[in-house]
Amino acid sequence: MPLGEFDLIARYFSRGSTRSDVLLGVGDDAALLEVPAGRALVAATDTLVEGRHFLPDAPPDSVGHQALAVNLSDLAAMGADPAWALLSLSVPESDEEWLGGFAAGLYALAGRHDVALVGGDTVRGPRVITITALGLVEPSRALRRSGARVGDLLYVSGWPGEAAAGLEVLRRGGPVAAADPLVRRCRYAEPRVALGRALRGRASAAMDVSDGLLGDLAKLCAASGVGARLDLERLPVSSSLATRHARADCESLVLRGGDDYELLFTLPADAAAAIEAATPAAVPLHRIGAIEEGRGVRCLRDGRPADIEAGGYDHFA
Ligand code: ADP
Ligand code: MG
Repeated sequence: MPLGEFDLIARYFSRGSTRSDVLLGVGDDAALLEVPAGRALVAATDTLVEGRHFLPDAPPDSVGHQALAVNLSDLAAMGADPAWALLSLSVPESDEEWLGGFAAGLYALAGRHDVALVGGDTVRGPRVITITALGLVEPSRALRRSGARVGDLLYVSGWPGEAAAGLEVLRRGGPVAAADPLVRRCRYAEPRVALGRALRGRASAAMDVSDGLLGDLAKLCAASGVGARLDLERLPVSSSLATRHARADCESLVLRGGDDYELLFTLPADAAAAIEAATPAAVPLHRIGAIEEGRGVRCLRDGRPADIEAGGYDHFA
C-alpha cells in the first residue's frame, strides 16, 4: 500500500533537531522560530524541476543534497549562519526508495550545517522541489553584491567549472563512475558556508557563482556601479579539469559553469592579506583580478585585452 501524505511526512521529514531556537517544528500549522535580538533573518528560496535542474535518473540523495545546497549557498553568499529550512515537495507517487534517498541526502547536508527542517508542504505532481532556507546575520556585517569599490581585489573560491564538467559527463549518457570527482562535484558540491562566515564584515562585496563566473561578475559590477578587470591566466583550473579537458575548454568551463557553489568576492586591498589568512584553509582562494573605474568586465590575458564572449556556459552548444 502506498504511503499517505501524513505517513510520508511522519516517516521521512519529521526528524527532530537539536536547535533550541526551534520553538515548534514540523507538525503544527506553521513553525515557531526564535530570532535573536540584533540579528536579521536572511531568507532564500530555490526550486529544482526534474529534467531541468536534475536528471530523472539522478541518485535521490543527490537531489536532496542539491535542493538544500543551492539555498545554503545563497545564505553563505550573504555571510549568514544557516538555521532553518522549509521544504515544498511535489512527487508523482510515494516511491519510498526515492523518498528515503532524498531525505537522507537532505538531512546529511542539513546536519553538517546545523540546519533544522521545520516545515513544508507535500503534494502529488511532477517532481518539483522548493526549499526555503533561513539564516541569521548581524545586518551591518551581511555580505552584499553592491559594496565593491575601485581598487578592491577580486577573488573566487575553490574550483569553479567542475560541476559543469561533471554535468557534461552525465549528459553524454553511457556508464558513469559514481566516484568520478567531476560527477561528484555536480551531484554533491558543498556550499561554502564557513567561507561566507569568515568573509562577513570583511569582504566589500560577495555573491555565489550560479550562472557562471563571467556573467555573475558582471552582475556584481552592475550592483556596485563599478567595472572589473579579470586576469584570465589567474583563473583556477583544478587538476581534475585540466587532465580531462583541453586548455580552452577548461577556461570556458571556469568562466561559464555554475552550481559549484563557489563564492565570488572583493576585498579591500590593504586588508586582503589579513583576511586571506583568516579564512578556512580547506578552501583555496584565488585572486583573479581587481575592481576598477568604469562599467562591465574587461578580460585580460597576460596583460593584453582578450576577446571573450559574454554569457553563461551553454550545455547544449
Ligand atoms: P497544513 O495543511 O496546515 O498546511 P500540512 O498538513 O500540509 O499542514 O502539514 C502538516 C505539517 O507537516 C506542517 O507542520 C508542515 O509544515 C509539515 N510538512 C508538510 N510537508 C512537509 C515536508 N515535505 N517537509 C517537512 N515538513 C512538512
Ligand atoms: Mg494548517
